[in-house]
Amino acid sequence: MKSEMSQETSGIGADKVALSVTASDVRLGMQASALTQAVLDHLHYSVGRLPSVASPHDYYRALALAIRDRMEYRWINTTQTYFDLNRKVACYLSAEFLMGPHLGNNLVNLHIEQEARNALATLGHDLDDILACEKEPGLGNGGLGRLAACYLDSLATLQCPAVGYGIRYEFGIFEQEIRDGWQTEITDKWLRRGNPWEIAKPDTFYYVNWGGHTEHYQDEVGCQRVRWIPDRMVKGVAYDTPIQGYGVNTCNTLRLWSAEAVESFDFQAFNVGDYYQAVNEKLVSETVTKVLYPNDEPASGKRLRLAQQYFFVTCSLQDMLHLLELAHAPVETFAERFAVQLNDTHPSIGVAELMRLLVDERRFDWDAAWAITVASFGYTNHTLLPEALETWPLPMFAELLPRHLEIIYEINRRFLDEVRTRFPDDEARVARMSLIGEEGDKRVRMAHLATVGSHAINGVAALHTELLQASILKDFHELWPERFSNKTNGVTPRRFLALSNPGLRELLDHTLGQQWLTEPGLLRKLDAHADKDAFQHDWYAIKLGNKQRLSSYIHAQTGIEIDPGWLFDIQVKRIHEYKRQHLNILHIVTMYRRLKENPALVLPPRAFIFGGKAAPGYFMAKRIIKLINAVAETINADPDVNTRMKVAFIPNFNVQNAHLIYPAADLSEQISTAGKEASGTGNMKFMLNGALTIGTLDGANVEIREEVGADNFFLFGLSAAEVESVKRTGYRPHDYVAGNDELRAVLELIGAGHFSQGDAEVFRPLVDNLTHDDPFLVLADYAAYIACQEQVNSAWQDVPNWTRMSILNTARSGKFSSDRAITEYCEDIWNIRPVTVKA
Ligand SMILES: *Cc1c(COP(=O)(O)O)cnc(C)c1O
Repeated sequence: MKSEMSQETSGIGADKVALSVTASDVRLGMQASALTQAVLDHLHYSVGRLPSVASPHDYYRALALAIRDRMEYRWINTTQTYFDLNRKVACYLSAEFLMGPHLGNNLVNLHIEQEARNALATLGHDLDDILACEKEPGLGNGGLGRLAACYLDSLATLQCPAVGYGIRYEFGIFEQEIRDGWQTEITDKWLRRGNPWEIAKPDTFYYVNWGGHTEHYQDEVGCQRVRWIPDRMVKGVAYDTPIQGYGVNTCNTLRLWSAEAVESFDFQAFNVGDYYQAVNEKLVSETVTKVLYPNDEPASGKRLRLAQQYFFVTCSLQDMLHLLELAHAPVETFAERFAVQLNDTHPSIGVAELMRLLVDERRFDWDAAWAITVASFGYTNHTLLPEALETWPLPMFAELLPRHLEIIYEINRRFLDEVRTRFPDDEARVARMSLIGEEGDKRVRMAHLATVGSHAINGVAALHTELLQASILKDFHELWPERFSNKTNGVTPRRFLALSNPGLRELLDHTLGQQWLTEPGLLRKLDAHADKDAFQHDWYAIKLGNKQRLSSYIHAQTGIEIDPGWLFDIQVKRIHEYKRQHLNILHIVTMYRRLKENPALVLPPRAFIFGGKAAPGYFMAKRIIKLINAVAETINADPDVNTRMKVAFIPNFNVQNAHLIYPAADLSEQISTAGKEASGTGNMKFMLNGALTIGTLDGANVEIREEVGADNFFLFGLSAAEVESVKRTGYRPHDYVAGNDELRAVLELIGAGHFSQGDAEVFRPLVDNLTHDDPFLVLADYAAYIACQEQVNSAWQDVPNWTRMSILNTARSGKFSSDRAITEYCEDIWNIRPVTVKA
């Protein structure tokens, strides 16, 4: 009590800054003085706290609300401009948006980072401490969700009319804690302290039905029609988040749907007046958007997941139809007004749902509805891994979405007729292409539904698109080659360089001018500086500073101390066998053994840094995390080796700590089995920040190597074609063990419990997997990986040349801007042009 009184008039200067600021400045002003007053106002009126007792989190909320104010008129203006001009809008449907913290990014995009920093300094706070208070919306698992977020940033920056549609999960991706070396999952209560970035739109909602049955009837004019009589219903309510473009007035919308119970809908409970049962129904309804499903587990038949997909897709399509109505535009023009992109198969039920909305509810005839549907949808494939392809058991599908199953059968009937016409007497092909899989239990194949229902189908890197056309969608490519194209992924240089690597940003601004942020081709001009001593010196100093920053973070999180002068070798991404974190560990254990056997060995000191979550039910991935931590514990505590190597696992890899991680890397580990990583985007973030890559010819690594030049990339391992050929002739891991004493010794060390206090059980399943039936061919690439790491060691010892290569990586990363990717989607798939939003 006492401190409240005394601090109210203490040196925070509230009385001094306020004087010259007008009322409109407080909402809109971009100067530090206006921001200071705005923060104080929000502390008072929105947060309800005296500045003197306000916590850093209170300041975070106040600043966030002040920044939101500054976006709001741009946002309303943007929506109004699209509406007035009747412009075609890209609707990006994604079950995941891994947005990361909003505040810092919005400051960058509005060009007011420095002003905000000054404003907070006036109030006695450091902007970085305040930014660290934001709890990021973790509404995604990894790359796919982050891609959606990068694309929203680029769409707004390129001034493209666009809406992101998704799910407002109450609990996003779990938080990972490491206990005794094992991953434990903690519920992500990201909304606990409110979310200043979203605006609830309780009046924008749509009904979503489930279950029940269908009835066939004749309408007034004698047409056969179908009625769906569902037995459950929920409401999807809109929550909007503004997405500010960089350096433009465009501020687009991310619209996330949240499930709510429909009051007094429950038929039985309503009739018998069972109040408690009705309340129970309410709870059940609201579970639809309760939690994000982790991926990287076999996409088995999770009912609630299908319910989630249908829920957000129907809300989004109904919203589009509603917007058409508001614009007095006929439904026939749907495909001229909306380009609907399916981010993987998760929203692919949309194909059947748009047909239902048009045929059953708007009484379109089938062919007209189908023409609109195919012209509207585009499908982005993200994986070739068979276990990740979504299929739904027929009985479950029929129970939840009986009408959609009928529609899918009708789509299939007509489609297979077309196949039979094009390829007569080829029933094997017909079976392969069917929307219904008949091997084992009958299942709906969502990738086939998405492909048949879309005018454009794309992969996410050149190699991936080739493999897609040659493997899982080969028959479809033969039927419709013109529908296929490649759209190599990209990342936003605003978040992943300007925001997260301010030191490098300053150097680039100074060297190139600020346009590189929207014209990343300009980064090529760094080529001319790559050999200059002074420039290399600045470059090295910035990297060292970033490594210092990460080292402090790692120390705070894990207690592990890492010398910032060491080589930072980093692998951060979801933990998965195909990404082969265990191959990385085999290299670490190899180096450990060499040092133990030969203490005089000259090895440049290296920090091996990992991060990433494993799906909670993924046995092997969780064991890989345990192995990393076990090896870390042994090595870090051993004075024979810990002056030359250390290992750290950063807990809870997310976008927020990614900001610290990518800029600190010297070496980027991109070591997936060739053919398995569709694209990767982590690889691009590392490159942009001047890391060199050690990698296989997989996903976008191929294009990264093309851009940066083979001399500036550490390539190893089997190609995708070689992987397939090894598998065809039979992979025999024992041959690799038998032919390599060092590999055998490394596996024995792990298996015998050297890193687990003699416990020979804990890593046995991992070693057995590697030596018996590993579909990802870890041992086949072991020797090549070790040899390539030796090249890394020699290269690292030549500091000027390493720095030169680091500069060249950033210089040649322009292709991997999400602006380039979005421009290609706009031109080749969506037919969408930029619109200038006036101030
Ligand atoms: C970029 C990113 C990913 C994707 O990383 P990959 O290496 O491409 O698998 C996953 N998670 C987060 C938090 C990211 O920022």
